[in-house]
Amino acid sequence: MTTTTIELKPSAHPLSDAEREAILANPGFGRHFTDHMVTIKWTEGRGWHDAELVPYAPLSLDPANMTLHYAQEIFEGLKAYRQPDGSVAVFRPEANAERFQRSAARLAMPELPVETFIAACDALVQQDKAWVPAHGGEASLYLRPFMIATEVGLGVKPANEYLFIVIASPAGAYFPGGVKPVSIWLSEDRVRAVPGGIGAAKTGGNYAASLLAQAEAAAHGCDQVAYLDALEHKWVEELGGMNLYFVYEDRIVTPELTGSLLAGITRDSLLKLAKDLGHQPQEGRVSIDDWRRDTENGTLKEVFACGTAAVITPVGRVKCASGEWTQSGGEPGEVTMRLRESLLAIQTGTAPDPHAWMHPLG
Ligand SMILES: *Cc1c(COP(=O)(O)O)cnc(C)c1O
Repeated sequence: MTTTTIELKPSAHPLSDAEREAILANPGFGRHFTDHMVTIKWTEGRGWHDAELVPYAPLSLDPANMTLHYAQEIFEGLKAYRQPDGSVAVFRPEANAERFQRSAARLAMPELPVETFIAACDALVQQDKAWVPAHGGEASLYLRPFMIATEVGLGVKPANEYLFIVIASPAGAYFPGGVKPVSIWLSEDRVRAVPGGIGAAKTGGNYAASLLAQAEAAAHGCDQVAYLDALEHKWVEELGGMNLYFVYEDRIVTPELTGSLLAGITRDSLLKLAKDLGHQPQEGRVSIDDWRRDTENGTLKEVFACGTAAVITPVGRVKCASGEWTQSGGEPGEVTMRLRESLLAIQTGTAPDPHAWMHPLG
């Protein structure tokens, strides 16, 4: 498949306007799904084929489907925002498409062409445009492209057939009552990813590996886990699903991409946006000792997490086995909030888009 033709087979029974509006009044996150999905198959020897937009529906899988046993699965997450003129634009879909290819390569899966990934997202957003929340808040339509192996069998090997799917879910403002700092549990024994492993791929396996530490964080009264590197248990890497930024007096540091952390698109966007706003962003290394000492001596002013779902989340409190400390007095930091508002303004179309990040729907 060189050019991407997606056959449209829309639902004869989409939700009524009233039912959809009731959901959009309080969508939450990942709880409701739109009327349609896009599916594209890949078969060895034939490549990508049978691209279609069909009604959202359960899949029927053989119990010996390889994904269920060996976890050959990858996914993406990106958002479509309603613009002030009522049109819809998607934030940096080509960056997600490229990362999806890198994840596929790491998991020995076929790479979906970038233009096909974008065409699939566009077709779904176009069809389910009424599901994109109104302009004026931080609400969006969250797109979840993913790929699974569909070969049946228990032999361990890369599968010979796959299914790519895009589904969409309306997402409300992450902090409906106003931005609230999160508390972080610094896990000094559990690791998320190792050098040479799959930490840089967006795959469900990394999330499965993070759930126990997340439960431990909750048991310590914390919202999120921060992971350290697997070799020295010293260098801060990321949260289970968000990257970290450290705001110093004179510079803003985010952990460098060592191969065991995920190259977030929000992280990348903030490296550029922070520079636009006159800061000095840099990729570097921050140890757990730096974090604590520099907070206590006052040079580390703010810490925040970033990712597509929450955009930017301030860190208000940090806890580890040897103690705990407050970050920015437990309040959202000034730089954190300015970056958050600036990025959201580009996404929602209320500020110019100097890097051409927004992909308008055709
Ligand atoms: C998706 C993800 C992020 C954030 O990436 P964005 O592209 O900014 O949404 C960070 N860490 C992990 C492990 C992720 O899966």
